[in-house]
Amino acid sequence: MTEADVVVVGGGVVGMTTALTLQRRGARVTVLTAHDPAGTVSTVAAAVWYPSHTEEDPRVLRWARDAHAELRRQAADGVPGVVDRPTRMWLRHRYAGPPWWADACGDLVAEPAEPPYTALLRFTAPSVEMTPYLAWLRERLEAGGGRVVRRALGTLAEAYEVAPVVVNATGLAAGRLAADAAVYPARGHVVLVANPGLTVSVRDEDDPAGITYVHPRRHDVVLGGTYEAGVGHTRPDPEEAAAIRRRCVVLVPKLADAPVLGERIGLRPARHGGPRVEVDPADGRLVHAYGHGGAGMTLSWGCAAEVADLALSV
Ligand SMILES: Cc1cc2nc3c(=O)[nH]c(=O)nc-3n(C[C@H](O)[C@H](O)[C@H](O)COP(=O)(O)OP(=O)(O)OC[C@H]3O[C@@H](n4cnc5c(N)ncnc54)[C@H](O)[C@@H]3O)c2cc1C
Repeated sequence: MTEADVVVVGGGVVGMTTALTLQRRGARVTVLTAHDPAGTVSTVAAAVWYPSHTEEDPRVLRWARDAHAELRRQAADGVPGVVDRPTRMWLRHRYAGPPWWADACGDLVAEPAEPPYTALLRFTAPSVEMTPYLAWLRERLEAGGGRVVRRALGTLAEAYEVAPVVVNATGLAAGRLAADAAVYPARGHVVLVANPGLTVSVRDEDDPAGITYVHPRRHDVVLGGTYEAGVGHTRPDPEEAAAIRRRCVVLVPKLADAPVLGERIGLRPARHGGPRVEVDPADGRLVHAYGHGGAGMTLSWGCAAEVADLALSV
């Protein structure tokens, strides 16, 4: 007998929320991960609920709505690292009604705005500090009898030593492991500064100089950002960091004197056609769950429910 019913390959936010969902439905679960949590892209994430760079799709809307609801419940329950953030999103393009994802957050309102803006959207977005959150997910999994094992697989087939059903939640590495040419990196860069007392998330995604966002956390503020499709390196770029900071200070002047604490650079696991969530057509015991791009946390729990349905029905 194998040690688990399902093995989830990948210990980022997609793999861990899937593992916990499977366990809550009665499965014995083992997670295999090539990296410690600190080495995953999930730890770099801002990580604020918002379907960034995500195409309109009823399936994605459902995942976003369910993840929003679950994360708001977790914020109310005091889950480590999860809070509700009032959000202001400034638009510069012609306002033609609520965005496609508006329904997912329930409380979005639009207001007129002065130039250069065309409208202001206000909504509540759950926000997650990924380091304590990934630790909490692991603790919950282990408390329920699940295991997390540090192991880098050469092929997905190796995972069948652990369980008869495999979930592939390997993010960017899925491009190689699943031979999927649609997967590509989207480099992202954020700067961390001390929090001068901010409690509201502010976005100006239409800024012609680059996407701009300010996300306060308990002890710091995440300043962003960049989204460089097809760029696959994580080398620091001091000029880029300075430009991010400048844009954010224009958006929220209170940040002007906030000391810089650090920066994070990561490669989002993007995919042409959106996330791949399906049973592999050539292997009925393999379920894919990768390619969440800039929205892995935003879609997490909703997507995990669908992946668990697939994994428990193969
Ligand atoms: C700067 C930046 C800001 C972001 N901000 C947000 C945000 O505000 N909101 C949001 O929703 N998203 C945000 N994202 C996107 C988010 O980080 C990703 O969508 C998410 O982390 C993807 O999660 P994942 O679990 O698929 O991948 P990962 O976190 O990369 O996890 C992949 C896992 O697979 C494992 N793995 C890989 N290869 C192997 C192998 N061969 N064998 C075993 N294990 C393997 C790895 O070790 C790791 O555990 C941001 C990303 C960046 C870079």
